[in-house]
Amino acid sequence: MRLAVEPRDLTHYPFLKESQEFLAARGIKMNELASSALGRKYLDSAVERVKYAIDGKEMYPESQDFVADIATYVLARVLVSCVKDRNLIDRLARMEAKRAYYYLQEEENAKLKNHVCETLGISFGTGAMPVIRYVELASAVREPKWRLINRDVEAGTVKISDDEQDILLRERIRKIFSSQLPLSIPPSMEHEFVPWCEKISASLQERTLAEFGAIDESAYPPCIQALIAGASAGVNLSHSGRFAMTAFLNNIGMTPAQVAGIFARSPDFNPDMTIYQVDHITTHEYTTPACQTMLTHGICVNRDAQCDKVSHPLNYYRAKKKLLERKRLRAEAAVKVASESIPAEKQDD
Ligand code: SF4
Repeated sequence: MRLAVEPRDLTHYPFLKESQEFLAARGIKMNELASSALGRKYLDSAVERVKYAIDGKEMYPESQDFVADIATYVLARVLVSCVKDRNLIDRLARMEAKRAYYYLQEEENAKLKNHVCETLGISFGTGAMPVIRYVELASAVREPKWRLINRDVEAGTVKISDDEQDILLRERIRKIFSSQLPLSIPPSMEHEFVPWCEKISASLQERTLAEFGAIDESAYPPCIQALIAGASAGVNLSHSGRFAMTAFLNNIGMTPAQVAGIFARSPDFNPDMTIYQVDHITTHEYTTPACQTMLTHGICVNRDAQCDKVSHPLNYYRAKKKLLERKRLRAEAAVKVASESIPAEKQDD
């Protein structure tokens, strides 16, 4: 017999297929929302939900309006799919995964918990995990203890403690959510949702600028500096080099036009081709590769002392920017002290 899922439960697990049935039964149609006052209210709430994800918050709060809660979940996914920004998609997937995981852990209804786990293709409380699944999930966790070589492997499974299982389960949910996006949205719907997508893009841009501050070329990691120097000199960069440079510059807040401007320093600059490639990378792939991946592709070059402390070019950039800022403040303070110690009559000379 089919499990009856209460509307309150659907707000906790809005990815269940029962949620779609719930909205359909109330006559909610995605393609008609922009033209009704209630629909626009849902779209505004969906923008707020995405902003929660952009700001790195873990829980979008639940309300007493079950229809609005579920519609907001669906619309948030539709809107980030229209924006087509991988970084944004990952942020939303992370927040929704943490939210679902939270409710799943707190769930007292065993039948419902099983139903949700079955829908997600996951299992609770086995104490072990097939090696292939383990490698797929643990690769996103950085500490050495997660490396397969440091694990207890037996009969094709890896032993894991309850705490570790929680971490991997959350990662599994995030991966599922992330792999489901972007959704394929009809162009007419994309067009109708432009005003809400613009609000999301502006919020993302604001967040990026706040995270990285003003762009400081002197803080670029050596690999990126080398790629920019190569592009400027007209070197035909490999796909991975072009991708890493474009994704990095976009991640620290450059617009696609500004990134294309870097390629324009090259003597054989082809504007149409460059803009096409930059747009493709910024809208589809987006995240700067980690140092290990850069190394594999032969584009981790000119390493310096700062490189030993990071595993990602963006972390290098953040740390170096802070370092340079501290140096600048120290230099300014030294100049101030020196000028204050010069007698007034000397200063007049
Ligand atoms: S270690 Fe990382 S940041 Fe440093 S050059 Fe290599 S890829 Fe770039």
